[in-house]
Amino acid sequence: MLDDNGHAKLAKLIDGKAISRAVRSEVAEETQRWTQDGHRPPYLAVVLVGDDPASASYVRGKARACGEAGINSDTITRDTSIAQDELIGLISDLNDDDGVDGILVQLPLPDHVDDDAVIRAIAPEKDVDGFHPASAGALMIGQPGFVSATPAGIVELLERSEIETRGKHAVIIGRSNIVGKPLANLLLRRGIDCTVTVCHSRTQDLPGIARQADTLVAAIGRAGFVTADMVKPGAAVIDVGINRVDDSSRERGYRLVGDVDFDGVSQVAGYITPVPGGVGPMTIAMLLRNTLDAARSRAQVALAD
Ligand code: NAD
Repeated sequence: MLDDNGHAKLAKLIDGKAISRAVRSEVAEETQRWTQDGHRPPYLAVVLVGDDPASASYVRGKARACGEAGINSDTITRDTSIAQDELIGLISDLNDDDGVDGILVQLPLPDHVDDDAVIRAIAPEKDVDGFHPASAGALMIGQPGFVSATPAGIVELLERSEIETRGKHAVIIGRSNIVGKPLANLLLRRGIDCTVTVCHSRTQDLPGIARQADTLVAAIGRAGFVTADMVKPGAAVIDVGINRVDDSSRERGYRLVGDVDFDGVSQVAGYITPVPGGVGPMTIAMLLRNTLDAARSRAQVALAD
C-alpha cells in the first residue's frame, strides 16, 4: 500500500495478544463482580480423550486461562479406548450436574467415536464451544446461543481494531463448521452487516474473488496460500491458519505459520493478523467469555424456575 506521499506503507498489525489480554481482563473483572455479588465462580468441565500432545497442550492453556480469569475448571481425562456410549454417559452426567456451567470436549476424538454424536449430547445451555447444532442454528437465525470461539474472536478483532464492516465485502476462504460457516453467519448479522462470500476447494477464480474483499479471512490449513496478488490494497487480512513448517533453526524443528504469506501480503493489505499472536489467542479469550455468559444465563433460568 502507498501512503499519501506515494511511499510504501506496511499493513497495520492487528495485535491478537494485546486484544485477547484486554478481553480476558474484562472477563476477569466481570467474574470478580459476579462472585462478589454472592454467586459461585463459573465452572468449565473440559473433557480430554487420549494422549495427543497438541490436544493436551491446548487443554492446559485453556485451564490456565480459566484460573487467571477466576473461572474454576477441571480437565476430565479418559483413555483413547473409551467407548462412545461411555463418553456420552459422562457428558450426560455433566449436563445433569448443576455445578457445571460449561462443557468443552477437546477435538479430535479417537476414530471409533463419532465427534458429532458426542457434541450433540452436550446440553445447548452448556455448549460453550458453540458446536452443537442448536447453537449453530441459533447463530444462523440470529437467536441467542453460544457462538464458537474462533469466529467470535475474529469479529472481536475487527471491532476493537475499528475496521468498518457495515456494507463491506468479506470473503472467507474455507467452509468448515468450526470457522468458515459460523463466521459467515456472524458477519451477516445485523450490526455487523457484511456482504459475505465463502470460498472453498471447488471455487473457480478464487484469486479474483479474494481481490474483491474488504476483509479477507483465510481458514484453509495451507501455509502461505494467500499471496499479495490475491489482496485488494488496503484490505483487512485475517489469518486463521496454523501450519507447521520444518525449521531446523528452531530447537523443536518446526515453526508455526499461517495461511497468509505474511511478508508479501503486508506490503498490500491495510491490516493483517500475525501467526502466532493473531486469531489464536482470541479463541481462548472468547471461550472464557462464553463460560461466564453460561454461568449468568443459567443462574437467570434458575431464578425464573
Ligand atoms: P478444515 O480442514 O476443516 O477446512 C479447510 C477448508 O479449506 C475447507 O472448507 C476447504 O474447502 C478449504 N480449502 C482447502 N483447500 C483449498 C483450496 N485449495 N482452495 C480453497 N479452499 C480450500 O479446517 P479448519 O478446521 O477450518 O481450520 C483451518 C485452519 O485454521 C487450520 O490451519 C487450523 O489449524 C486453523 N484453525 C485455527 C484456529 C485458531 O484458533 N487460530 C481455530 C480453528 C482452526
